[in-house]
Amino acid sequence: MDDNQPYFPDGLNMLNDDLDLSQQTETEARPSGSAVTPTSRPKRFTSNVWQCFDIVQMTLPECTTGPRAKCKFCPKDYTSSRQGTGHLRRHMEKCMPAHGQIDTTTQTQLQRHPNGSVTTWIYDPERAKEALARYIAQTDQPINFGDNVFFQEFVNDAFNPQHQIVSRTTTRNNLIRLFQTQRDELMAELQHLSVSIALTSDIWNACSKQDYLCVTGHYLDSDWRLTKKILGFRPMDFAHTAENIFNVIIEVLETYGITNRILSITLDNAYANTSSIALFTERNISQAGGYFFHQRYACHIINLIVQAGLKEVSARIDRIRYAISWIGSSNPRFREFGRHCTLNNLRPRQFQTDMPVRWNSTYLML
Ligand SMILES: [Zn+2]
Repeated sequence: MDDNQPYFPDGLNMLNDDLDLSQQTETEARPSGSAVTPTSRPKRFTSNVWQCFDIVQMTLPECTTGPRAKCKFCPKDYTSSRQGTGHLRRHMEKCMPAHGQIDTTTQTQLQRHPNGSVTTWIYDPERAKEALARYIAQTDQPINFGDNVFFQEFVNDAFNPQHQIVSRTTTRNNLIRLFQTQRDELMAELQHLSVSIALTSDIWNACSKQDYLCVTGHYLDSDWRLTKKILGFRPMDFAHTAENIFNVIIEVLETYGITNRILSITLDNAYANTSSIALFTERNISQAGGYFFHQRYACHIINLIVQAGLKEVSARIDRIRYAISWIGSSNPRFREFGRHCTLNNLRPRQFQTDMPVRWNSTYLML
């Protein structure tokens, strides 16, 4: 064992937000307690829970020996696992005040509420990282959003001088944990529902040219509110055949244990979608005798009707479309068009061309 290397037991697989691979020193690296087995990578605890816990090797009553997180202020000890440090933090928040200890890594401020009351607001770096991951997921920001010195400066100047850069690895782990928590909550909710679930599904093509199949569940929740939740968003990096579509959707339903709770499924009129219905019927997953089972995506039908109608006037629309791309394909032409508009007291505008799968895009173009 190399005493100059900070190390951690193999069984102590903390998530990356607790482990910072940079800047470790001998004294910071190893919590006190008995010696532990080295791993290949030096790691450091950064979570503030380690002001309350030591890592010690313990032999449990069932004769298993392993590293445990032992409270410094009371006799309790806890598992150290992949599940992170949430359970340790909950204990710390109760135990440290009970033993007259102050959490030195957090900063307190007064928080005013709309009703005039004032409570203590505590800055918690772990909670801040989780909030950042939620923000990134909700607003579709890049995963390295918090891994940026200018963002750090913004938060430091405007909100909290304690905020530090959050690496993309930390954000990635927090996003995965957020996803798992929300999926587990959704699973529990669907398990306790007594109503049927209606599905909609479509295959979607991302900018990166990858295809994804999305399955959305629609149902009445326990308060009779119409609710819709994305149940699955799976890559479709194989042929879009009826069998593959069926297999992906069934796998999503099996994940949630709702294969026998489906009232209907709404798909667009692609041939493979329609063919997949026969496979669902064979599997006998539909409720209400299968009477409402296959729904055809109404907007897709409207689009087919509108496209057929637009064909009747295609000669005129084609000329407008050509003119728009002719103006837009050269900067001098576009400038000349703008000058012409201004001379005629018209506001120069930018045009967008239409696309066949969105019938209202032709309307917007005109
Ligand atoms: Zn304790």
